[in-house]
Amino acid sequence: MTRTTTREAGFAECAQVDIDDLLRSHGLRPTKARRLLLAHLKSTTRHPSAEEITDQLRRDGVGIGVATVYQNLSRLVDAGLLIRLSGSNGCSRYDADVSSHDHAVCERCGRVADFDPGPRVRNALEEVSPCDTGLGEWSLTRTSVEMLGICPECRAS
Ligand SMILES: [Zn+2]
Ligand SMILES: [Zn+2]
Repeated sequence: MTRTTTREAGFAECAQVDIDDLLRSHGLRPTKARRLLLAHLKSTTRHPSAEEITDQLRRDGVGIGVATVYQNLSRLVDAGLLIRLSGSNGCSRYDADVSSHDHAVCERCGRVADFDPGPRVRNALEEVSPCDTGLGEWSLTRTSVEMLGICPECRAS
């Protein structure tokens, strides 16, 4: 199991042309919105929601509508370039790290952080077969552990 641990370091040298190639290799035309969204999500580990992404892009001087953001995030998820996570408050969050990895969710603010549950848990998850879990008709694409808790910022406030 390979894990992406150097995402931010990797993105520093990831030029626009790589984003374009990535989009094309996943069957998507590299439009301005898709480039921006993918580049933004690859530069952060915050697992932002569509609203947070829109706000951040606007703060960066990019005028983009929330409908355009939603629509293109969906295309990127369908193409396998992003993972959509269901947040604790029903609002989806997005992750450009599509490798198998696990998330801790703050029950107060909904913030999502990556964590590593260690090799024993990972190995156990990889051995899960649909038949053992009452999901005999399913084909599993990904397994993950979700930890719920209160994040450091919420604990401090
Ligand atoms: Zn929190
Ligand atoms: Zn993640």
